[in-house]
Amino acid sequence: MENLKKYSYQNLLANNKNWAAKKTNASPTYFPNLAKGQSPEFLYIGCSDSRLPINVMTNTDPGHIFLHRNIANMVHQHDTNLESVLEYAIHSLHVKTIIVAGHHKCGGVAAALGPKSEGVIDDWISPIRSVYANNKKELDEHICTADRLSELNVIAQIKSLTQTRPFLKALSTKNTPNLVGWVLQLETGLIKDIPLPLDEWKKDEILPQTFVNTP
Ligand SMILES: [Zn+2]
Repeated sequence: MENLKKYSYQNLLANNKNWAAKKTNASPTYFPNLAKGQSPEFLYIGCSDSRLPINVMTNTDPGHIFLHRNIANMVHQHDTNLESVLEYAIHSLHVKTIIVAGHHKCGGVAAALGPKSEGVIDDWISPIRSVYANNKKELDEHICTADRLSELNVIAQIKSLTQTRPFLKALSTKNTPNLVGWVLQLETGLIKDIPLPLDEWKKDEILPQTFVNTP
């Protein structure tokens, strides 16, 4: 961490001016076009961790990824904030794919492996404790319990997402978005695609047999 430069807020404003000028020089219509509206292909639900700028990691321009971030990329039932994002992304923006992304070295996941505390965050991440309890043997034997728990948490949060009101509404239409689980590997910068147990979820009637996932 010592080699990381510290920015002042004045640095941020100065950098912004340079960036906007560079973009405008390259294409004078860039910002006017961007201001006309958005039609993103993806909704991304990820962790708030500062080391995960998904547009940078995927080398994508503004306008393609609709974003929701919270600690440990959680999908709680009846979280009005997330459900609003889902409703707008699915039913107004018609995103093609929803990505839920966890990451290695996640502080939220590490906290869920530690002793309980009195803080708000402990309430927020309590479902991860259940993911651990339900997969204790596999996790305890894994070479990195926390990183594997991040992966299983992504699967658990996508399962939760399928039961939210906006997604259930989407299932009743022909415009159900695809589902993708990612884990961002901080140690290499690479994204790992996590297979989803869709057949199992169909068998357990969490998803209808008609659900097709073609991201
Ligand atoms: Zn995190």
